Formats: sequence, structure tokens, C-alpha cells
Amino acid sequence: MKKTCPNPAFLGFLIATAILVAIPGLSYVKQRAPETIIPGPGVTRRGSLSDYLPALKGTSADTPVFYLEGKEPGGTVLLVGGAHPNEPAGFIAPLIVVERGVAQKGRVIVVPYANGSAISHTEPLEGSPASFSLKNKAGETRVFRVGSRLSNPLDQWPDPALYVNEKGQVLSGSEMRNLNRAFPGKADGSITEQIAYAIMEIIRREKADISIDFHEASPEYTTVNAIVAHEKSLELAAEVAMYLEFDDIPITLEQSPKNLNGLSHREWGDYSDTLPFLFEAANPFMGRLRGKTDETLIIEGKDPYYLAAAKAKRLNVPYDEKGLPLSYRVARHITAFRYVLDTYNTYYEEKAIIVTDLPEYEEMAYRNLGDFLN
Ligand SMILES: [Zn+2]
Repeated sequence: MKKTCPNPAFLGFLIATAILVAIPGLSYVKQRAPETIIPGPGVTRRGSLSDYLPALKGTSADTPVFYLEGKEPGGTVLLVGGAHPNEPAGFIAPLIVVERGVAQKGRVIVVPYANGSAISHTEPLEGSPASFSLKNKAGETRVFRVGSRLSNPLDQWPDPALYVNEKGQVLSGSEMRNLNRAFPGKADGSITEQIAYAIMEIIRREKADISIDFHEASPEYTTVNAIVAHEKSLELAAEVAMYLEFDDIPITLEQSPKNLNGLSHREWGDYSDTLPFLFEAANPFMGRLRGKTDETLIIEGKDPYYLAAAKAKRLNVPYDEKGLPLSYRVARHITAFRYVLDTYNTYYEEKAIIVTDLPEYEEMAYRNLGDFLN
């Protein structure tokens, strides 16, 4: 029988196709790689979200949990970042606590990337960069992925046309993949519900006295530069808002509506004894009015269209030529966290939580944020 030799043109076509597939394939694999976190001297133990729900082990939703344990016993605070990993200050603020903070009394538990599935892909149709980088004090580059508001469809698919939640509210079907609509979660539910359940389990098993969820939103959104608090934590939140205002950090206070379904500030409080807070910083990168959407916009927060909107008094937050840089947004979050502890400690002396070595607002805002990372 005659041996058939592959047509060289066809062979060339196959090789070219393989190269074309490999280029996006490599960037896909890179986007699924776990984040580099360099724990600081305050981290006494490292665990995983799957410690609280073994079904998550080996899935893209499993994510590191850091424990900063003080020598002196006290209360416990849980910090949750990256519920929406397209909101950079939402995960960099808790990361700075992991890399810098030291608990002297009580414990801090930190989940910097709560939705590990959502950080494995970018926001579709938004022209969003896949990552941004910061230079640390040693001049080394730290790269941070930018994820999506929703879990990756590779992990949870298909979406229903509509999502009717347990309180009968009708949301778009893709909201089924929104971690901040999935609390208190389900142990045998979708990957998003499982993540929500595992976070609830941290709150319950570790007896978190305080739980804080870090976010960012567009400057034209109504709940922005805000603290959202469950009725249980409302008085503490009011005091925190007052201290922030004394520091010239504009903030509004919102009570978590009782009929909201699946949101952290509502369900954490309804399904556990914790005092829940959600912090929301204003970020033009998140907004509908923004122009060029790149790494610089994430870091510098300067956008000519937001400046025009501010001049026309169409924004809910102060905005000028200085922009709203990542350093400012993170400094707001860290400062609000420090004030939550200070305020809590005055009422619950025996369960005080004392954390040192966190940067002050003035040191961090409008400075090189990488200086506060390892
Ligand atoms: Zn958010």
C-alpha cells in the first residue's frame, strides 16, 4: 500500500493553528494560576476555604485563609476581600493586613480572594485589563489579577434566564454567579453557593465577633463611599462614620435593608452572631462613564469624563484632578477597619481586638501603594 505523506501546506496550516490556539491558551492558564501572597510577620497560620467545606477542595473556588493570632486572647474579626474580584481595593486592603498587620490581642482571619472562581476570568465586554502591577519598596513588581464580579461560567453553567431568589426578588440569571447575592449559601449548592456557605462556616465556627466585606463601586452609584451595616452593627458604624468624617474622609452610612436577599451585610447578621459591615469605595474603573479602561485607570483613578461629570454635579462623591487612586481607596478601607476595631474595643473591652503595624491614612493615600506590600 502506498504511504500517504501529509501535504506540506496542510501541515503548515496545522502548525499555524496550534500556535494561534497556544497564545490565548497560555494567557488563559496564567489567569487561572493562584495569586502570589507574601504573608507578613503577623500571620501565625495559613489554611484554606475548603477547611470549612471539603467539597471545595481541588476546585478553582478553594482559596487561602490567613490567621493573625495575638498572644493575648480577645475577640475575632473576619475580613473578606475579593467577593467581587473586579474591585481592586476590595482585595488589596485585606492583602495589606495579611502582609503588614500584627495582632497583639484577639484574632484577625483574612480571606483576600473570597471568590476564587470569579478571579479566574475577566469581566466580559468591558475591555478590562487582566492584571495590574505595583512596585514594592524593594523595586520588585507585584502583579495582581483583575477578575469578574461573577463566578466563572466554566465552574457554573448554564445560567437561568431569570434568578428568583428566596425572598421572591427577580434578578438577571447571571446573578446566580454573584457571591454577594448567594449568602448564606448551600453546602450542596452551586459553586457560588458553596463559597458563600464556607464563608458563613468561618463566621460560625470561628465565632467571628465582627465581619467586614470590602468592595468598590462606580462614582455615580448611590451606595458609594459608604458603610452598609446590619441593624446589629449600625450604632458602631455610625461612630466609625463620624471618625472618618473628622479625618475629612467623606462617608455615608446605610442600614442594610431587611428585604435584601443574599447580601453579606444582611445574611451574615441574620444567620450568625457576628456584627457585619460592608465598605464601598468609589472607583471610576467600575463606572459606566469611564473612557480608556486600562491599568493606569485602576491605579490612578483619573478619567476626563468623570471630571466632566463632577463639574456638572452628576456624581455622588467628590471628584477632582487628583482622581481617586487605588492608594486612596485602599487607605479609606484600612482606616475604616481600624476605626471599627477602635470603636468595638471601647464597648467590648474583654473581647478587644488590637492590630498594630497597619499604615495610617496619611501615609498611604496618594502615595505608592506598593510600599505597603512585601
Ligand atoms: Zn462589589
